[in-house]
Amino acid sequence: MSSRIADILVPPRCREMIRAGALIAINTSGGKDSQAMTILLSRIVPRDQIVAVHAPLGEVEWPGTIEHIEATLPAGVPLVMAPVSSGKSLLDHVEERGMFPGARQRWCTAALKRGPIERELRRYLKAHPRFGGRLVNAMGMRAEESPARARKAPWRRNDRMSVAGREVFDWLPVFDLSTDDVFRVIHDAGQSPHWAYAAGMSRLSCSFCILASRADLRRAAELRPALYRTYVELERRIDHTLSPSGIPLPELTGVSPATARHDDPTGLNSI
Ligand code: SF4
Repeated sequence: MSSRIADILVPPRCREMIRAGALIAINTSGGKDSQAMTILLSRIVPRDQIVAVHAPLGEVEWPGTIEHIEATLPAGVPLVMAPVSSGKSLLDHVEERGMFPGARQRWCTAALKRGPIERELRRYLKAHPRFGGRLVNAMGMRAEESPARARKAPWRRNDRMSVAGREVFDWLPVFDLSTDDVFRVIHDAGQSPHWAYAAGMSRLSCSFCILASRADLRRAAELRPALYRTYVELERRIDHTLSPSGIPLPELTGVSPATARHDDPTGLNSI
């Protein structure tokens, strides 16, 4: 039976893996869910069994993300960066394909995050034989985020990564937490979430995400006018919209790229 430890429901097999000395990899985007997960896992997993891994998204990522991860990581936990090996950015991929990712064809997640992260974790396991090829891959998805996420299994074997001599499970430790829970965990730990939340964003990762709400896209356009203009120009050039609704960004956000205001309270509006 799963037991709840420090706000986290820990499946029995996961407890066994932790006791047996498995590596626990914290996939961190720098967002609030990753941050709360990091805080909670660092309370129940020995530090020398944890590694944090981040897939940097370059220009499309919120400024200060890597610095925020570094500043909020528990002492002694290494951070591994997992960049795309081709060096191509999300916008390079969009330009090449002539289209943005879709809600159903989210190639961005597989190409820019999952693939590079799994590559780095395979390398890390190989370089650290003391983990015996055992890996728990922890991700910060929550059921409350969307109906699709609510259907995910919070604990399952990762068949793609598991081979002879390597056993990998995917775990969603904060699956049952609400948004309020997540902010409470961060606050109670004496930390603050990334600055973009206080600036009005509800989600982090890509500044302009295919899945973002209209309100988040509008706020991102205000906070990052230069990047906003790049997205608007790209939409026009490839004749395809970021939003799966097919509505171009200026219409969706109500923000004209020519007049995008430099009114960012953080002072980062020219980025
Ligand atoms: S944040 Fe959105 S656009 Fe960026 S990789 Fe994830 S799903 Fe794709």
